[in-house]
Amino acid sequence: MSSSFFQPVDAAEVPRFAGHSTFMRLPAVNSAKGLDIALVGIPWDGGTTNRAGARHGPREVRNQSSLMRRVHHVSGTEPFSIANVADVGDLSVNPIDLMDGLHRIESGMAEILASGAIPLSVGGDHLITLPVLRAIAKERPVGLIHFDAHSDTNDRYFGDNPYTHGTPFRRAIEEGLLDPRRIVQIGIRGSIYEPGEHDWAKQQGIRIIYMEEFVSRGAEAVMREAREIAGGLPTYVTFDIDSIDPSMAPGTGTPEAGGFTTREAQQMIRLLAGVPIVGADVVEVSPPFDLAGMTALAGATMMFELLCVIARQVDEQRRVKQV
Ligand code: MN
Ligand code: MN
Repeated sequence: MSSSFFQPVDAAEVPRFAGHSTFMRLPAVNSAKGLDIALVGIPWDGGTTNRAGARHGPREVRNQSSLMRRVHHVSGTEPFSIANVADVGDLSVNPIDLMDGLHRIESGMAEILASGAIPLSVGGDHLITLPVLRAIAKERPVGLIHFDAHSDTNDRYFGDNPYTHGTPFRRAIEEGLLDPRRIVQIGIRGSIYEPGEHDWAKQQGIRIIYMEEFVSRGAEAVMREAREIAGGLPTYVTFDIDSIDPSMAPGTGTPEAGGFTTREAQQMIRLLAGVPIVGADVVEVSPPFDLAGMTALAGATMMFELLCVIARQVDEQRRVKQV
């Protein structure tokens, strides 16, 4: 542990409803320099095809994240003691120009990566993951562990539009950002547009674990397979909040009945331990469709679970370097 690491505001000194709203009540900083993990908002929903509002996600997740405390109650992880973490603010976005929005997100993310920090971001709709991957996978394709109700590997919408929150992973594979044989999608369910909708993804080698398979096999077995697919190589983790059931996370753009409980989702994220994570995001929290902040709280909770896993990885790597 280093005493120079940033610490959250102490809730025994300043109550959780007071003070500046930042992720996990950490300091807001202007740059990711010196950080191990950069918490960053990407308030952009230019790829949304139905219910908009994920642009408001980062602000409300910051608000609900004031409920996160210092210690993980299962693993005992103290993320702020073993990793230097802060809120680097929101990336620059453009709400009225999709292509410029993608460009801004990519360059903002590239700046964070240049500092050496691992980005843990909050969207935004799921299209934000494409420009994030453009920055992260510039040198080599990465693997993907993808929690979602949807495969997000469709091709075109509204005529010939290639960029929506239903297409990011098709584009990412075409652009060589993802190794499709190292992609696993977990929680896929719901009605689809046509019978062969997932054929393209499967032909690429993507492993789709439908919700029904998750229910019959359980989290331990599914995540053991996910870790095998990641193969101990650099892997990105993307968590679409609509993977959780709408009864627990109604505030999202494309709700699908029959989803994970928040508890199942937490369990799966804990089972990511050992996967070399190069970045992660929580997307599709749409506060205008939320009730009492419950979806933003679920998002903040998943963010904390991811943070604990990544902080442990940072700590282990630091120990290896010191030996
Ligand atoms: Mn998605
Ligand atoms: Mn989805």
